[in-house]
Amino acid sequence: MYDLLIKNAFLYEIGKHKDLGIKNGKIVEIGEGIPETSGLEVIQANGNLVAPGFVDSHMHLDKVFSLGTTESKTLASAIVEFTNYCNSIKKEDWKQDVKRRAKEVARMVVKSGTTTLRTHINIEASTDLYSVEAINELKNELKDFVDIKITSLTSFYDGPEAIDKRLDLLDYACKNGLIDFVGGSPHAHDNWEELTDKLFTIAVRNNLPIDFHVNESDNPDIRNFEQIADLTMKYGYEGLVSCGHVTALNAVDDQTAARVIAKAKKADLQIITLPSCNLYLMGRNDKQPIRRGVTRIREFLEAGVNISYASDNICDPFRPFGNGDMLEEGLLTAQVAQMATKSELETVFRMGTINPAKTLLLKDYGLGIGKQADLVIFDTDSVAEALIRQATRSYVIKKGKIVARNTKISEIIF
Ligand SMILES: [Zn+2]
Repeated sequence: MYDLLIKNAFLYEIGKHKDLGIKNGKIVEIGEGIPETSGLEVIQANGNLVAPGFVDSHMHLDKVFSLGTTESKTLASAIVEFTNYCNSIKKEDWKQDVKRRAKEVARMVVKSGTTTLRTHINIEASTDLYSVEAINELKNELKDFVDIKITSLTSFYDGPEAIDKRLDLLDYACKNGLIDFVGGSPHAHDNWEELTDKLFTIAVRNNLPIDFHVNESDNPDIRNFEQIADLTMKYGYEGLVSCGHVTALNAVDDQTAARVIAKAKKADLQIITLPSCNLYLMGRNDKQPIRRGVTRIREFLEAGVNISYASDNICDPFRPFGNGDMLEEGLLTAQVAQMATKSELETVFRMGTINPAKTLLLKDYGLGIGKQADLVIFDTDSVAEALIRQATRSYVIKKGKIVARNTKISEIIF
């Protein structure tokens, strides 16, 4: 007897109509003509697409819904505005504040089909490890609805003494199992080279993978990206290091970009593009033509580098818009990267599913016997159509249980 039986599912990337038997949170049978009576609960997929859930590999759950009254215009001013927000909340109320805002977004993204997310969480002077602790509590509370992975976003905006304190806190978080990835944004600091090396040292010492913000700038300086590729190979960390943004790659010449992309491939760096946030934040000092501020998506793909898209900031000083809907981010990625053929749209869809699952080192992801039943059922049988039409996610299934249902009702009066 299956806990859940999905009848007549059009299987993502397999391209066949099958029935899926699910038990104890796992896919245990993929077959044809499985009788309805063998499922405690039965969903008729009616030949529609069933895909593994979206994996959002770069969010900031501690920042969501922290938008102040002033409009931020640059990355630097958004950082100041978020610090002001942190300072406006009493320390004893901070954990509850973070949890409340983060939970609201977690519910939103589950509704749109995200079954695993990775969030950067600040470790900084005003909040210490409070945010990390709060998101750990939420991670536990929501474990049956969405898997949450935590990356530290170690802040380096203050003096050397404070930076050492932050690195000690990071080490403590690693040792106490409070984070899944070591991360930070050293590229923005004068001492970026040394700080990047320190973050690698802490990650290697604690045997944790890494997730950096890298060269999020319009300046033609990608030295930090290149350093990360070198250190990845030095420490044997191939496949274990994520690089988010890398927008500066747009500003360098084609030859330099090609050389560094080849190095990224060698180091098996995991690239994450954040088009919605960077379209909003980058190019602020440009007169026309204003640069798009999005990394070289097509070149990374052509070089065989594993690249994903992710949602980044949601309704905060860094981007006052967004809802974390990965299908919406996918369509934006397709438009920004000018990818529109059927096979290009299939690649884009993979950038929100299979590619980030590799980046997050998810072992039991996908459509196969023994895989975790994290699934989305769409109201179309085509990946391209799902993106173009922003298809309804009829069912979202997490660990074999339905966690969200959606229906679209429209009435056209003519
Ligand atoms: Zn970010």
